[in-house]
Amino acid sequence: MRTIDLKGKTALVMGVANQRSLAWAVASALAKAGCRVAFTYQGERLQENVTSLAARIPGSLVMACDVMSEDQMDGVFSQLRGHFGKLDFLIHSIAFARREELEGDFRKTSREGWRIALDVSAYSLVALANRAGRLMEKEGGSIVALSFQGSSRVFPNYNVMGTAKAALEQAARHLAYELGRFHIRVNVISAGPVPTLSARGITGFNTLATHHRKYAPLGRNIEASEVGDAALFLCSPLASGITGTTLYVDAGYHIMGY
Ligand code: NAP
Repeated sequence: MRTIDLKGKTALVMGVANQRSLAWAVASALAKAGCRVAFTYQGERLQENVTSLAARIPGSLVMACDVMSEDQMDGVFSQLRGHFGKLDFLIHSIAFARREELEGDFRKTSREGWRIALDVSAYSLVALANRAGRLMEKEGGSIVALSFQGSSRVFPNYNVMGTAKAALEQAARHLAYELGRFHIRVNVISAGPVPTLSARGITGFNTLATHHRKYAPLGRNIEASEVGDAALFLCSPLASGITGTTLYVDAGYHIMGY
């Protein structure tokens, strides 16, 4: 069997809130393959969680970063440059919308709710890829962002987050085009429902997960570790010819007509 060896590689994983986070599953998969990992957390509330999880991965680095702050993003990449000297992989596993925007009528989305959701969940990929690109330019790299099928289909209550995911996926394609000449690949994983902290903030999440389980070809929900494995693949040389794609890790749900 061909194994994936990422010794000597470095990753920035953004979006670990706790051990259920998809970002943690990705970080674990990368670390098992020998990759060094840097983490960011947003706000002091999560500092302890992320620091204690990161301690399980030797040589990891933990930094604060709210992606709504240009200064904090700059700070992360200058620390990375000092600590690792380069970056091979960026994992964007960040999304946010105000709770009131994730229930009820989409047409009642407020201007401010739209702005915040699109800023945190989609613009951040552009801003981070620009900074990461400068640390990847010499050797190339891989950027992976997390999305949901709400980008192209209607899931009641997903509302403005669906718009944000559509923007995220298109931004990823555009970034793949621009960064390709530097041998930097940009891909998206569209994951099926997994009960994480932010997923539980979506009204009717359990109904959504049950529907997926019932109608997905594999007849089950996915595990976070399956997202981790797919991200590991996309970062590895096994995916060297893949960029600008959206890879569904959803037990096949996206092919169904009902
Ligand atoms: P999660 O554990 O709650 O992770 C979301 C992360 O985004 C949290 O660490 C959160 O920090 C962070 N975040 C929010 N606003 C931020 C900001 N301004 N700056 C920096 N970080 C910020 O939930 P998750 O399900 O693993 O979500 C990860 C990604 O997977 C998201 O893009 C999500 O849309 C996507 N996804 C999830 C599912 C699912 O069913 N779970 C399915 C498909 C795609 P705070 O806790 O401080 O807000």
